[in-house]
Amino acid sequence: MAISIQIFIYFIIFSITGYGISTWAISLPPQLSGRIHSDPDAIKAASTDYGHIISVNPAAVLSPSSVDDIKTLISFSFKSNSTPYTVAAKGNTHSTWGQAMAASGVVVDMLSLEKNGNGSRIIVSGNKGSGFYADVGGEQLWIDLLNETLKQGLSPVSWTDYLYLTVGGTLSNAGISGQTHRRGPQIANVKELDVVTGKGDLVTCSPRQNSELFFAVLGGLGQFGIITRARIVLEPTKKRVRWLRILYNDFAAFSTDQESLIAMTGASYQNVPDYVEGQLLMDPNTNLDFFPPSDRPKIISLIKQYGIIYFIEVAKYYDDSSNVDKDLKCLFKNLNGFIPGFMYEADVTYLDFLNRVHRDELVLREKGLWEIPHPWLNLFVPKSGIFDFNNGVFKDILLKNNFTSSLVLFYPMFRNKWDDRMSAVIPDEDVFYPAGFLDSSGFDNWQVFDNKNKEILQFCARTGIKIKQYLGHHGSKEEWIDHFGSKWNTFKQRKAQFDPKMLLSPGQKIFN
Ligand code: FAD
Repeated sequence: MAISIQIFIYFIIFSITGYGISTWAISLPPQLSGRIHSDPDAIKAASTDYGHIISVNPAAVLSPSSVDDIKTLISFSFKSNSTPYTVAAKGNTHSTWGQAMAASGVVVDMLSLEKNGNGSRIIVSGNKGSGFYADVGGEQLWIDLLNETLKQGLSPVSWTDYLYLTVGGTLSNAGISGQTHRRGPQIANVKELDVVTGKGDLVTCSPRQNSELFFAVLGGLGQFGIITRARIVLEPTKKRVRWLRILYNDFAAFSTDQESLIAMTGASYQNVPDYVEGQLLMDPNTNLDFFPPSDRPKIISLIKQYGIIYFIEVAKYYDDSSNVDKDLKCLFKNLNGFIPGFMYEADVTYLDFLNRVHRDELVLREKGLWEIPHPWLNLFVPKSGIFDFNNGVFKDILLKNNFTSSLVLFYPMFRNKWDDRMSAVIPDEDVFYPAGFLDSSGFDNWQVFDNKNKEILQFCARTGIKIKQYLGHHGSKEEWIDHFGSKWNTFKQRKAQFDPKMLLSPGQKIFN
């Protein structure tokens, strides 16, 4: 029988659903004793996230120095007959609804793999003929991967808007941004994974080897294993980016032009946009930094006149500036609905473009506005519902109720760039639109925004818009079953196969 250290931990759990006092004991593997922490600082760090809404205390935190530590932790719990504990991988804790937490379980602080490990956890390989790729630790931040690959003139092809997220964290969701329409989400740009399953086995998987686990884990919300290595597709990159914002007062023109931009194809990708997104402007004091100060009064009067101004955000990567001008002319010749004279552009390095949200982060941190509640809602809206969504959500729920300072993203992508064998769930239409309601709030009024989000969900249910939540949290198992729809049976079977004791990622509240 394994000798174990009995760690008795007594603590109070607070959560938004109420509070209670719980006491219990868990038994952890003795060989990890130096790397398991249960001091108040460690517990506190693992009991909060970017949402600052949910707070759940784990019993302990593992700071692994190797993948073996993670294997040891999980297999010990898996083999325990008396007190198995749950295990949650914590990436950079940028979830907003407690998804990386483990009430009374063990949180694995993935960033420790980089801090405590030996040697580089980003290795770039490949060649022009067969393609380039990077083998990357699941704990690595995308910004670090970008900086490393740029040294060799290479870059991943699919991104999130913000890069201080871990590879394992975004691959557990999908990883989307303005590149997704063309390159697919980040999960569609992975060749191979190393995963520690819920049985504590370290398994290498790919579309050809242990494929069931590979497809399960991508978009799998951490339910099937902890990603310890991902082989990410790279390609030679351009040095600069022409970055534009084009203003619309008419939703039909805005969405038609967005769809015509993403529909552009070209054998050499010469004449297609590299990035297409879109946002709403509803508040004369918010989100105008991109535009030249001299033009802001004109934009403010447009917002006041129309209530909502939509803008398309487009980017084209380039090396030679004379060609990019030509390419942009070609891109824009079919756009016909924007407000004449309201097309703005910036010229930045590739790194500055991809890392653009970090600049906002630094400003917000300085003002003390980063570590505050984020009652976010992210949806995928099928194309058939976008006009009802514009009228019912943007014009009615947001504008009429004065939710005008919200950061709202809205842009189209193609279903055929996603691989249906993966766990990620998207609407059942060829084109769908991510809609991001990225609010910040005070600690005492986040419910106001959450109620607004609930109203949006109720509106969609009432009007039959078959949205899917992205990065979502659901109140009951029935809601999760509804979310997964036709994928639920496969999801459940994969759980039984790879995490039969339901130890992993309890913060998602799917099986626990
Ligand atoms: P965490 O929040 O720590 O974990 C998320 C989930 O994944 C948890 O269930 C956790 O247990 C699990 N997990 C973490 N690491 C692993 C691993 N190695 N193996 C298995 N499971 C793991 N998303 C987009 O798609 N596009 C965007 O543009 C985008 N922009 C964002 C901007 C900001 C400012 C923020 C805060 C978030 C943004 N997100 C975006 C959401 C982001 O992708 C997810 O919140 C992601 O989960 C965060 O990664 P993380 O490393 O912090 O993961």
